[in-house]
Amino acid sequence: MENSTSFYQFVGFQPPQSHDTDGIEELDIDPGEHALFSDFDGTIVDIAPRPDAIRYTGEDAGLFAKAMKSFGGAVAIVSGRNLDDVAGYVGAFDGVISGGHGTELRIGGEIERHELPDPQHLEHIKAAVAEFAVIDPRVILEEKTYGIVLHFRQNPEMEFKARKFAECLLEGRDDFEIQPAKMALEIKPKNISKAAAIEKIMLAPAFYGRTPIYVGDDATDESAFAYVNEHGGISIKIGDGPTVAQYRTGSPASYKTWLSRQISKRRD
Ligand SMILES: [Mg+2]
Repeated sequence: MENSTSFYQFVGFQPPQSHDTDGIEELDIDPGEHALFSDFDGTIVDIAPRPDAIRYTGEDAGLFAKAMKSFGGAVAIVSGRNLDDVAGYVGAFDGVISGGHGTELRIGGEIERHELPDPQHLEHIKAAVAEFAVIDPRVILEEKTYGIVLHFRQNPEMEFKARKFAECLLEGRDDFEIQPAKMALEIKPKNISKAAAIEKIMLAPAFYGRTPIYVGDDATDESAFAYVNEHGGISIKIGDGPTVAQYRTGSPASYKTWLSRQISKRRD
C-alpha cells in the first residue's frame, strides 16, 4: 500500500475507506472448519488503473501458502479475470482458481471450461466492442475468453456512453448480459456466476462439509455473497457500496491482516 497514494492521486481515484460498523475485527473463524473463497482484484490485490498494473506481492504469496495449510487446502480464488491470467499472477498457489466469473475452473490440477452458448455471437460482440474502443480511445478493452470488458476508470464520463453502446449491442439477445463492475462493464454469457462456481467447488473433497467464507469488493461478487448467506456461510465486502454481505472491511490490506491473524491464531 505504500505506493498507492501517489498512484491513486496520479489517476485521480481514491480507493474506498473503511467507516463501517459491521467490521471484521470482531469476527473469529476456525480455519479448520471453514473454506475460504476470495475474489482477486480489489480483494487480494489493490485495484489499478489498468488491469495489467496490479501487484501480487511475495507477502501475498506467503499468506496464501499459509492459508492453504491452515484451511486444509480449502482455499479458492474466484475471479472475473481469465483463469490463465490469475494463474500467471499467483504462481505457486496450488489451491482452486475459478476464472471468468465461474466459466473456468482449476481444481485438483485439472482445468474445466464451460461451453459457450454462441461462440459466433461472442466474436461479433468482441469485434463491435473493439471498434467502439478504436473510435473512442477513452475506454480500455480487456478481452476475455468468455466475454469482453470496457474499462473507463481513467475517463469516468464514459460510463453512460459505454453502457448505452453495450445495451444496443445486446438488444434482443437473452444469452448475454451486462455485468457492471468498478469503473468498468463486462459483457458476458448469462447463467454463469461466481455463485455457481462456489457451489461446484464446495463438492470437492477439501471443501466438502466446511462452512464457506466469501470475500469480494464488487457488484460481480454479490451473487457469491448471496450464495454463502443462504448456505450458512460468512460474507465479507471490501470497501464501500451497497451489498448483501454480512461483514465489511476497508481494503485488501485490512482483509489480509485479518486473514493473517486467523491463521496465526490457529498455529499457536
Ligand atoms: Mg474484485
